[in-house]
Amino acid sequence: MDDHRTFVIAGAGLAGATAAEALRSEGFTGHVVLLGDEPERPYERPPLSKGLLLGTAERDTVHVHRAGWYAEHDVELRTNSAVVDLDRAAHRVRLADGEQIRYDKLLLATGAAPRTLPIPGIDLDGVLQLRTLADSDQIAAAVTDGTRLVVIGAGWIGLEVAAAARTRGAEVTVVETASLPLQRVLGDRLAAAFADLHREHGVVFHFGARTRELRGAGRVSHVVLDDGTVLDADVVLIAVGVSPNTALAERAGLRVDNGILVDSTLRTDDPDIFAAGDVANVDHPLLRSRVRVEHWANALHSGPAAARAMLGRTDGYDRLPYFFTDQYDLGMEYAGWIPPGATTDLIIRGDLGRREFVAFWTIDGRVAAGMNVNVWEVTDPIQDLIRAGLKGAVVDPADLRNSAVSLEELVS
Ligand SMILES: Cc1cc2nc3c(=O)[nH]c(=O)nc-3n(C[C@H](O)[C@H](O)[C@H](O)COP(=O)(O)OP(=O)(O)OC[C@H]3O[C@@H](n4cnc5c(N)ncnc54)[C@H](O)[C@@H]3O)c2cc1C
Repeated sequence: MDDHRTFVIAGAGLAGATAAEALRSEGFTGHVVLLGDEPERPYERPPLSKGLLLGTAERDTVHVHRAGWYAEHDVELRTNSAVVDLDRAAHRVRLADGEQIRYDKLLLATGAAPRTLPIPGIDLDGVLQLRTLADSDQIAAAVTDGTRLVVIGAGWIGLEVAAAARTRGAEVTVVETASLPLQRVLGDRLAAAFADLHREHGVVFHFGARTRELRGAGRVSHVVLDDGTVLDADVVLIAVGVSPNTALAERAGLRVDNGILVDSTLRTDDPDIFAAGDVANVDHPLLRSRVRVEHWANALHSGPAAARAMLGRTDGYDRLPYFFTDQYDLGMEYAGWIPPGATTDLIIRGDLGRREFVAFWTIDGRVAAGMNVNVWEVTDPIQDLIRAGLKGAVVDPADLRNSAVSLEELVS
């Protein structure tokens, strides 16, 4: 029997697109409307700071589905269609052009947007950010051999663009308020390894430095730091993190606190509204905490999990946070989650100096997170160790350090 319900998905990124796919693969025969404010059909963002900038990935390989997939699966994809209002009582969303669409269930998969800096000169030409395909195209066009690029923010995106820009022959300076890149996530020892990697490739860092002002006549030409240092710049990338796109949810009175608050099935406090991907702050059943994850794998898996919840399944979403990065010849995967303020021990298995190792963060002997650098096929046992740790299993640090003891053995 055909289902006459309409399921609307606001946000046509990876979470939205995979949710639409899952609705169909789980057998939903009703109407699926996927609304995105970008001109492109859904695409994956990781290549925007890597393969696309390096010229190793083709632009048309980044899309989540073939162009024909949406029509073939009877998914009404509407690009350039920003949802501007949500009327929960009437079960309706309103688009920028005034059109209203009624929903039975609604998924908010509106993602996140780059933060900006409240400093003079931020609107000058040549001051760029990176979130969309168009942003990546703009960076690729602006950053060529000899370009003086100043990256503000030494997080994942800033460092990936720095690496790609060096490979393109640009002169790269990175400005960061902390005393090392990625310091908050990795801690001093491993953060220093990332700083060394970039220095070896010719990146110049200014740590402990705040940007006071961007200067230029129409186009940016200089970056002024708080201590008066003036850096020459042809292009400036602002890479100071993202904020979840929660405005729609907030205006509609949904609970929002660092993302849209959802339970472990990705449902909001409105039984007909769900959230997934970067925008969702999930009550995580394994981590026993609220967690908002801004990474690819979370969008890939939480979209389908939300779709199942929209169909009334209550299996929940208990994936461990996972992400990856590629910078020069360093490839890395990280899994797990360290509660804010927790005291951790860092255990290295392998060779940190040669950048071939697995790092474990333990809390009272339990593995809380693991990161494999240029070591592959280990994320499954690392995640098994973390899951075991969450159930209380303690691992001998000597065994974790000892590459002769296989990770599978430790799990068992
Ligand atoms: C350059 C870059 C590189 C990255 N690299 C990695 C990586 O190497 N590894 C990793 O794990 N993660 C990486 N990420 C993070 C990963 O891409 C994100 O976690 C993922 O894109 C989140 O998917 P999402 O669908 O939740 O949100 P998004 O991808 O942000 O998609 C949300 C969509 O909704 C749209 N939207 C917002 N509001 C509305 C509205 N009101 N109406 C209609 N549409 C709306 C947005 O414009 C967007 O198109 C990277 C991100 C970027 C930007």
